[in-house]
Amino acid sequence: ASGYSLLRDPQYNKGLAFTEKERDAHYLRGLLPPIISSQQLQEKKLMHNIRQYEVPLQKYMAMMDLQERNERLFYKLLIDNVEELLPIVYTPVVGEACQKYGSIFKRPQGLYISLKEKGKILEVLKNWPERSIQVIVVTDGERILGLGDLGCQGMGIPVGKLALYSALGGVRPSACLPITIDVGTNNEKLLNDEFYIGLRQKRATGKEYYDLLHEFMSAVKQNYGEKVLVQFEDFANHNAFELLAKYGTTHLVFNDDIQGTASVVLAGVVAALKLIGGTLPEHTFLFLGAGEAGTGIAELIALEMSKQTKSPIEESRKKIWLVDSKGLIVSSRANSLQHFKKPWAHEHEPVSTLIEAVKVIKPTVLIGSSGVGKTFTKEVVEAMTANNEIPLILALSNPTSQSECTAEEAYQWSEGRAIFASGSPFDPVEYKGKVYYSGQANNAYIFPGFGLGLVMSGAIRVHDDMLLAASEALAKQVTEENYKKGLTYPPFSDIRKISANIAANVAAKAYELGLATHLPRPQDLVKYAESCMYSPLYRNYR
Ligand code: NAP
Ligand code: MN
Repeated sequence: ASGYSLLRDPQYNKGLAFTEKERDAHYLRGLLPPIISSQQLQEKKLMHNIRQYEVPLQKYMAMMDLQERNERLFYKLLIDNVEELLPIVYTPVVGEACQKYGSIFKRPQGLYISLKEKGKILEVLKNWPERSIQVIVVTDGERILGLGDLGCQGMGIPVGKLALYSALGGVRPSACLPITIDVGTNNEKLLNDEFYIGLRQKRATGKEYYDLLHEFMSAVKQNYGEKVLVQFEDFANHNAFELLAKYGTTHLVFNDDIQGTASVVLAGVVAALKLIGGTLPEHTFLFLGAGEAGTGIAELIALEMSKQTKSPIEESRKKIWLVDSKGLIVSSRANSLQHFKKPWAHEHEPVSTLIEAVKVIKPTVLIGSSGVGKTFTKEVVEAMTANNEIPLILALSNPTSQSECTAEEAYQWSEGRAIFASGSPFDPVEYKGKVYYSGQANNAYIFPGFGLGLVMSGAIRVHDDMLLAASEALAKQVTEENYKKGLTYPPFSDIRKISANIAANVAAKAYELGLATHLPRPQDLVKYAESCMYSPLYRNYR
């Protein structure tokens, strides 16, 4: 290849880091200024540039430009500065990027499969330059974070999630494929936006929708084989549960909103027991929001409880209550409930608001998963604090604008007693002279390591016990030092080590269940996971 095209290929480009020898061997003389820079110096310069931007969306765009220009440098920045850059390439800023995707759009990333490609999806997959794909993240854009239907502009999410697969989980970037399925959008604002990049029609539903998804799932298996992981992301719940159940028996599929969130929240709750006391089955849970996240978490907590008590899961479920937009889910509503809510319709008189539910159910743990911001009001937090010595409060909804309450509110309203974690990050808070740290209860802790564990063991199906294995591995990574700060999650700065441990525990479970095909089983799975992880350091070209 010519030197000119080498500089324009993000997978190979090293910019000023090309050595004298490489400049001679690859026709780069004159195409670069004379000095040679190290990757470290490049990193320093770029971080300096990115920090100059005051508008977070500009930081996002600078990162995306870098990804398109020099992939290894992009990952080096992301890995070395994960706590600083995660909120940029992921929640909350990615949410704003999706909302404005049409106008910030420069060059397409990922693969777009719309209704126009019906009947040709296999051909579309073949247009992608990489042949060997290990992880696909796919969305149909109907429920992007807590921002609703963003149609085709949801692409920011699979792109961001896969960047984390490589940066946090070490899956090779070239083995990752972001896909957006465009079946239209019901978002009027987008339909009337002249810069909108998606199909200008209402969402296809029913048979038309399911046929397209079926063609997609079949084409994926045909093109990439049985061991490609398909992660469903930000589908609306009226499709998400069905797709997961339908393809769970024939494909290696994982729904991050249902399963990844469940695993990360269970880990945070188990870790928090050291601070709040009691065993998992002794606690009482109340959720605001009974969708993918809420019922997914509830079910995994119930599963873990019943493993501990050796009693049926139906018994464990009785310790868990959920509130949706119509109030507490109770048995008198059973007939009109969506199927995924039915297991939670316990015997109780109707309760219409969250605050009433907190007062009558007296939960020890309160979890927000409704996508609606500011719903943990002062009254709600005070009621939790009146009932509990140390209330555990998790505000999972993303992005920050949708958070059920802020960290500051949680500490102020509980007079410093709450243990708090949130889906999008909050800075430490000072309250009455003491600094309070809050953890980030975000599935980004789980999915990268979980995916790595599946890929490295050659798993062919996902099993719930693997979610428990991931959760257990994460909870174990919380140190005494973290606990002292009130943290129930370890810092993201250690995420590669955390991911290797999660991957190892997930892989071990895959082998145990007979679902792994990579044989023989490596002896030391943590070491093996580490050895599989992608390094963003530049290579030498001869
Ligand atoms: P979903 O499936 O659409 O569920 C939303 C649920 O909230 C539904 O049960 C809905 O009730 C309920 N709800 C909506 N408005 C409400 C209100 N005003 N009062 C009470 N309940 C209300 O969405 P999801 O996938 O579970 O996601 C929800 C949120 O969780 C999003 O903001 C998402 O970003 C966040 N999330 C965070 C993480 C993380 O890692 N931190 C992971 C996944 C999701 P009805 O059923 O009655 O409509
Ligand atoms: Mn999601």
